[in-house]
Amino acid sequence: MGESSALERQDAVLRVKTACEALGLSESVREILSTPRRSIEVAVPFRQDNGDVRVVTGWRVQHNTSRGPAKGGVRYHPDVDLDETVALSMGMTWKCALLDLPFGGAKGGVRVDPRSLSRAENERLTRRYTAEIASFIGPERDIPAPDVGTDSQTMAWMMDTYASLIGHTVPGVVTGKPIALGGSQGREAATGEGLARVIIRALGENPSGSRVVLQGYGKVGSWCTKALARSGVSVVAVEDVSGAVFAKDGLDIALMDAWVKTHGGVAGFAEECKDIWSVECDAVVPAALGGVIDDCVAARLNAPLVVEGANLPTTSDGDAVLGERGVRVVPDILANGGGVVVSYLEWVQDTQHLMWTEDRVLAHLMETMNTAYDAVESFVSEHSCSWRSAAVRLAVSRVADAHMLRGLYP
Ligand code: NAD
Repeated sequence: MGESSALERQDAVLRVKTACEALGLSESVREILSTPRRSIEVAVPFRQDNGDVRVVTGWRVQHNTSRGPAKGGVRYHPDVDLDETVALSMGMTWKCALLDLPFGGAKGGVRVDPRSLSRAENERLTRRYTAEIASFIGPERDIPAPDVGTDSQTMAWMMDTYASLIGHTVPGVVTGKPIALGGSQGREAATGEGLARVIIRALGENPSGSRVVLQGYGKVGSWCTKALARSGVSVVAVEDVSGAVFAKDGLDIALMDAWVKTHGGVAGFAEECKDIWSVECDAVVPAALGGVIDDCVAARLNAPLVVEGANLPTTSDGDAVLGERGVRVVPDILANGGGVVVSYLEWVQDTQHLMWTEDRVLAHLMETMNTAYDAVESFVSEHSCSWRSAAVRLAVSRVADAHMLRGLYP
């Protein structure tokens, strides 16, 4: 919190400025794209189970709405602050633009440790936070979703609070809801399935038999691993918070999945892996934490390719080392965009009162991921730049185009 989130925000602004310079955009467009359109700070008083009232702080930042309503998650974490929320909201703007979704970017958060709350306290806090930001959100304004520390139940409470204030049910005000309340089939698997598609494309024409190392076996990592196994890709090492495991000829994913369900983590399933980052493989996939590929890790990676499943897993120093070593990095805004694609499909279903099958959702997801991948690949070959630079420049240029076409009011 504080210093590190201020740096995160500075980095986010620097990325836009660099992209704008490369695209030859004017100083005024650069200023607009690096400034959040609206930042709301709210006090969130809620009654604790012991009867005392506790007040925490919440934020909702809408970075840009040139391409459509703002879209982004709500985080409950003790380190949440305005700078972090701004940086994350900017990332959402670029991710939605890169995937060509008709959304701008937003992010919200409450500075609280959700593990310190009972379920009833969490519900009261969520309802009050929603009431405080209710006049700024809505299916045509800003559509929250789950993020770190929040889940489908949080979205159910947010939707119900908003509906109570408006006077009728509005499923499209949030995404990531339970299916019974208008959530979408396929949402749970979306980020991991989309990530697997990007890995498979990046591995080249014949990915079967390729060797991949993954960090993270949570919502993203587990679905991704299963999808890779279906395509014949060998996952040779996996690390989660419990430890890391390795199998030279590939881990048996079905057995590992069953192991994780009974043991709570991958540790003990196969031979222990001392250092996943130095395992020789065709692709490394960080799908757990931010900032894990720093300059030291980047120097010892034994793979020609990194595909970023987590948000911001590579530090700027790490990125520089990977660049010098010629390691290709497929960036997070492309690789983990599957979640927001299916969030968009949930919103489409909600606003039209339709319910799609899982097959239809996943087919649409794959088409969207492929189109975005093709666009970045063409940009790279046309401009001879890194995949990260191509993805950000493509996204920034789309938002800048929308902004310039709309013009400035008044
Ligand atoms: P999750 O909480 O479901 O899983 C996190 C995984 O990381 C777990 O396997 C956990 O054991 C592991 N982990 C935690 N600490 C670790 C450590 N010190 N070393 C090794 N492994 C560790 O989270 P998730 O939803 O899978 O998200 C993973 C990443 O992907 C995050 O960066 C998140 O922001 C990003 N992301 C998630 C989604 C989504 O739809 N869930 C979408 C976009 C981006």
